[in-house]
Amino acid sequence: MNIKKIKRLAADMKEKTVETRRYLHAHPELSWRETETSLYVERRLREYGYENIRRGFGDAASGVTADLSGSSGPRFALRADLDALPIHEENGAPYRSSVDGVMHACGHDGHISILLAAAEILSLMKEEMPGCIRLIFQPAEEIGSPSGAAVMIDEGALEDVDAIGGLHLWSFVESGKVQWKNGPVMASSDRWNVVFTGKGGHGAAPHTAIDPTVAAAAFLCAIQTITSREIDPIEPAVVSLGKIEAGDAFNIIPDRVNMAGTLRSFDSGIRASMEARLRRLAGGIAAAYRCEAETSVTHMIPSVVNHAGITKILREAAEAVVGAENTEESPRLMISEDFSMYQERVPGTFFFVGAGNPAKGADNPHHSPRFEIDEDALETGVAMMAAFAFSAVEKLK
Ligand SMILES: [Zn+2]
Ligand SMILES: [Zn+2]
Repeated sequence: MNIKKIKRLAADMKEKTVETRRYLHAHPELSWRETETSLYVERRLREYGYENIRRGFGDAASGVTADLSGSSGPRFALRADLDALPIHEENGAPYRSSVDGVMHACGHDGHISILLAAAEILSLMKEEMPGCIRLIFQPAEEIGSPSGAAVMIDEGALEDVDAIGGLHLWSFVESGKVQWKNGPVMASSDRWNVVFTGKGGHGAAPHTAIDPTVAAAAFLCAIQTITSREIDPIEPAVVSLGKIEAGDAFNIIPDRVNMAGTLRSFDSGIRASMEARLRRLAGGIAAAYRCEAETSVTHMIPSVVNHAGITKILREAAEAVVGAENTEESPRLMISEDFSMYQERVPGTFFFVGAGNPAKGADNPHHSPRFEIDEDALETGVAMMAAFAFSAVEKLK
């Protein structure tokens, strides 16, 4: 791999990459509605000579896959996510969102511009590359269900792919650094719903009613013990409540309480045991309080588990791009990413490119209305994606 050439091309393209990111930032689109973004991606890939370009997955006109065939050899896939969030941007930059209530507040605008620039570099180095590239521009990463990754995989996005890589710009990590991790790195995410049903009545006569709010309160306290008392303290796991709905008036005992929340963990055994324990507590507490409980758990996103061999290739590429001193191991994160769905089919690794820089206002968390990245991170991301893919096809051969 000619790393000098890759770094030089990424540096030459810096201005163009920033321009692309700013254009996309100004024109955000929500999950499954990334039509204009996908058309934009498609036009650029045609310009760079990509083949087998396919646009439109599921019932949507969004999502793009494309191939670059060097000489025959292994096929490595690179993935970027396309969607923005239902957030009203509070930044004042000239390229701020032009769509009211929609914002690229997670950095996916940067991911698209990085993958487009890396695509151009790889197309320029096609003759020297001993393998093929599949690009996957994925809709709907943010909403979990239906996940863009699941739909694209169902419709053949991974056909003939040997391995896959993906990145996230990360405002919690200093710009200029790259983080890798072997094994589990991001948690699985499941949604739970519990409905407690009792018997409504007058607030002054509780003995004539069956109050489901008391059962719900006991349940909310009891589920805290799933992680604190029932799971090995060495193992990270989270049970959170995000939504609770009951009642219409101060003097009426309601007849039902709706609760919803999330379960997060890294291990599939723990994932299953948390669901079983949540169901047991809901049923047991409902019975104790003369109510009924209806529990459902929706499995949304599995844990991101990085493959040792592919992570080694990524780590070496990172050391070549930013130097060993700027390459570090990532901590595990309780948030989830549907990149894990690709990893259920082919070996892959998901890594982080630092995009934080307080001096440039890039120190707000992802999904904040003031989220911003240090745009210098784009050049790092471009060189990383191109070097990682090039090196992967060389080493997988
Ligand atoms: Zn996000
Ligand atoms: Zn994201």
